[in-house]
Amino acid sequence: MQFKDLHLNKPILKAIVEKNYERPTLIQEETIPLILAKKDLIASAQTGTGKTAAFALPILQLLYDRQDASKKGKRIRALIVSPTRELAIQIDENFKTYGKHTNLRSNVVYGGTSIEPQKEILKKGVDILVATPGRLLDLYKQNYVNLANVEILVLDEADLMLDMGFIEDVLKIEKSCTKEKQILLFSATIPNKVVQLANTILNSPEIIDITTSSVVAKTVHQTLHYVPKPKKIELCLHLLRNTIRGSVIIFRRTKFGVDKLEKVLLKNNYLVDSIHGDKSQNLRLEALKRFKKQEVNILIATDVAARGIDVKNVDAVINFDLPNLPEIYVHRIGRTGRAGVEGVSYSFCSADEKVYVASIEKLIHKNIFVEEDHPYPLDPNAKPEVHKKKGSKYKKGRKSEASKKKKKRWY
Ligand code: AMP
Repeated sequence: MQFKDLHLNKPILKAIVEKNYERPTLIQEETIPLILAKKDLIASAQTGTGKTAAFALPILQLLYDRQDASKKGKRIRALIVSPTRELAIQIDENFKTYGKHTNLRSNVVYGGTSIEPQKEILKKGVDILVATPGRLLDLYKQNYVNLANVEILVLDEADLMLDMGFIEDVLKIEKSCTKEKQILLFSATIPNKVVQLANTILNSPEIIDITTSSVVAKTVHQTLHYVPKPKKIELCLHLLRNTIRGSVIIFRRTKFGVDKLEKVLLKNNYLVDSIHGDKSQNLRLEALKRFKKQEVNILIATDVAARGIDVKNVDAVINFDLPNLPEIYVHRIGRTGRAGVEGVSYSFCSADEKVYVASIEKLIHKNIFVEEDHPYPLDPNAKPEVHKKKGSKYKKGRKSEASKKKKKRWY
């Protein structure tokens, strides 16, 4: 799925393009259509999944679509309640980024800092207010906040909000808004008290659950191979020869990478096919069919092409390149270890990809087992490689002997 399939307005799509987001994350795919359809929602998703944009984008769209030039100036039409000031600031920044080509104004108020400047902000008027509960109620009591026009209320990190003892405040805030509003509840976990809160204030909510525990099956044995980038192909061949049996999906980040790896594997007589965005729908379906019928046992794919494909019972997944979003990692390895069957994932990490490991481990709440016993270990002190074009510009088209030799690999 692409962002354009979500029917977002041009000014919002423009901001997404400027952020270089290639496609919606899983939570965005699931929630954006429901929010645009004005449904109440309970979404269980952790930070790192793209959940802020999952509510910010459709809220901006809903407000943008129905703007009334009120004589009294801007009124708060969307209210986002967040338990901590850091989160509140981040959410406000998100709204400002995604809404920069709209005339919608967002701002943030939180405790632990002087209240006076925040009163000034509110006097000027905002469409979207992000707030921590205590400070919001203070400002409300002092008549600086009018909640009578709130069309959408978001309770973010609801479990944390309740753990921090904000339940009474949240209920008061909800009551102070109009009755006919859409409520979106986001929570990393859904313990009983969150269910109770939802039952009290939500109206026939849709439930979206993309928590990691529900996505990463316990039957997936995850391993991590630190390897220099130029040795990844050798490591892949080594694993295919010696370790991996059965059907394998290999994920690469780019179409170019998919093609390159496919050529090498074909040369080495593996039964392989590939899917990526440059292939026609027919060719992609054909490749999938061959893989499902086990005419080929290796499928190389980009994430975009692999979205939504239903291939069950894959024995192994190779993350040839680590994804930049942890949620994509979870999505990729979810292709194996299904329905109680054991599966294995192999992730190749070069020096410049080490940053992604930390965010993946944070999301899945565990450290991935590091396989050190392989022929291409990465020097722990290796610096990320910067790819510079070598050689003089005057030598264009002519290859040096050294570079010709380099091309002659053994496979
Ligand atoms: P969040 O889960 O809201 O904390 O977002 C985690 C990170 O993912 C943030 O840095 C976002 O800017 C980024 N992000 C959100 N949506 C996307 C997307 N569709 N593609 C790439 N990055 C994204």
